[in-house]
Amino acid sequence: MEIEKKKNIKDLSLDELKDIVTGEFFEPSFRVDQVFGWIYRQKVSSFLEMKNLPRHFIDQLNDHFLLTQIKPIQTLSSQDGSVKFLFELSDGHLVESVLIRNGNRNTVCLSSQVGCHWHCLFCASGQDGFKRNLSTGEIIDQILSIMKVTNEYVHNVVFMGMGEPFDNYDQVMKSIQMMNTDEGLNIGARKITISTCGIIPGIQKLSNHPFQVELSVSLHSADDEIRSQLMPVNKKYPLKELIHACKKYVEKKRRQITFEYLMLKGINDSVEQANKLSHLISDFDAKVNLIIYNPIQNKTDLLPSEERAVSIFQAILKRNRIPVTIRYSKGQDIQAACGQLRSNYQNKLKV
Ligand code: SF4
Repeated sequence: MEIEKKKNIKDLSLDELKDIVTGEFFEPSFRVDQVFGWIYRQKVSSFLEMKNLPRHFIDQLNDHFLLTQIKPIQTLSSQDGSVKFLFELSDGHLVESVLIRNGNRNTVCLSSQVGCHWHCLFCASGQDGFKRNLSTGEIIDQILSIMKVTNEYVHNVVFMGMGEPFDNYDQVMKSIQMMNTDEGLNIGARKITISTCGIIPGIQKLSNHPFQVELSVSLHSADDEIRSQLMPVNKKYPLKELIHACKKYVEKKRRQITFEYLMLKGINDSVEQANKLSHLISDFDAKVNLIIYNPIQNKTDLLPSEERAVSIFQAILKRNRIPVTIRYSKGQDIQAACGQLRSNYQNKLKV
């Protein structure tokens, strides 16, 4: 079989690989458990390293599948312990992931696409436009590579890197299945968060899906006019319809939803905005994360809110009985906001 026709074995679920191995290679299904053990626990990057497999089976795997591992071409370590990784994919495209260390818990922030369709004003990933979706294997490989490079375990996963996860719904859900399964990475579904800019069909699909993952929605304003300026997605999925879909999601899943709210000086941080937000989300189970903005290059008109404005905003939400936390961006010193490292790396190459 030609190299280019070979499938990336990490794109296949356990059941899909079992169908091939038992139905076409006539091998017992426990061989697939062994293969998964080598890939997901030992993190090998060659079939030849799978020491307990018979030679003829290794040859069959080699003939039919690719087993590669993405490697970081750049890593930046922050003073706060987080590490940003820039990965080069097999076609030369670049994606970013971040390892965030919090006490003895590690969270990995994953990318789901190369670039993004949505052009949010505050985001470096959307500035270059959309290039392509990541495959299941490319999503999962970000975690495997980080585990291998750091020799550390990953406890939580957030889809908050490059791309809109609901625009790559099938691959994202399949990658979650591989993270979640015992034979894969064995990460609990509740430790996995999908963060969307507000793609209503995605929220609806997830509400009908059995996975009990966490959902967070980037809101950033309770006012359609301001939100449309910050996030063009609001023109397609305006606030009234978005909040309705979120309420339905909470009712159906019986799970709290988190709204992300980037605090931007003089844009969305007023008392009036805090009251509007409280009113918008007061009648269902939701909490708010206020995020201190990490400015990106070429966007000097967007500035982080002042501490006092953030405190007042938080107090208003609390007074209105909305659960609220303040999240300080990790990795300020390493361009850890979405898409910044990739964008800066590409700009340097252009010079
Ligand atoms: S914030 Fe998310 S949805 Fe918006 S442009 Fe960036 S990656 Fe895309």
